[in-house]
Amino acid sequence: MSAKKLIAANWKMNGSRALVEAVSQQLTSINATVDVLICPPATLLAHFPVSEHFSLGAQNISEHQQGAYTGELSAGLLLEAGASFVLLGHSERRQYYAETDALVCAKLQQAVAAGLTPVLCIGETLAERQQENTQQVIAKQLAAVYASHPELLVKSVIAYEPVWAIGTGESATPEQAQATHAFIRAQLALYDSAAAAKVRILYGGSVNAANCQALFAQADIDGALVGGASLKPDEFMQICQSAK
Ligand code: PGA
Repeated sequence: MSAKKLIAANWKMNGSRALVEAVSQQLTSINATVDVLICPPATLLAHFPVSEHFSLGAQNISEHQQGAYTGELSAGLLLEAGASFVLLGHSERRQYYAETDALVCAKLQQAVAAGLTPVLCIGETLAERQQENTQQVIAKQLAAVYASHPELLVKSVIAYEPVWAIGTGESATPEQAQATHAFIRAQLALYDSAAAAKVRILYGGSVNAANCQALFAQADIDGALVGGASLKPDEFMQICQSAK
């Protein structure tokens, strides 16, 4: 388990310059015992002040380094815009934009090559959980990246987000989350045991100020990836402060 927890905000396609200001202001009083990451829409990255209190991340990158890919953004462009992290393989990208494990792996390689820290998002759907396939699904999503590129693990953050818990108000219980996080760490140890012991594994899916403390108390939960509640500066601050 990593010493410092990481609390990451995924604004998705939400936010505004006003929210950038509100959140940046709020985070000036954050305690240095927690790492905070904000992943806004890419167009807002450059509107954040440079801050020692939080890092910035993108929500997606192209699998290509540069070239004739109209509408796409490369890892290098996002780095130049202020990002130092990138969310990859979020279930909304997998579901709505048909991102496959192979594509996610290619993006992860681009991210690391450019100097961005990838946050690899994994998780099972409700049907997969009901069929008791959670471990199989997760093992496959991890293997798709780290079986062929174990050297990327030491550079990665993992976010476990059960798809049924995202945006539904129905978080996994702390025990459910812990059991899966422990499984993830054990799987990752197959590829690089030293890195697996240290990698930060965030939980995501309906995290809020009321349920975060019990999640953070679990041995293998090293932080959170927060969607809806990250759009409310006061609540997001409370979540960050619970993660000491
Ligand atoms: P949620 O989203 O906190 O609104 O459930 C989490 C995510 O999708 O990263």
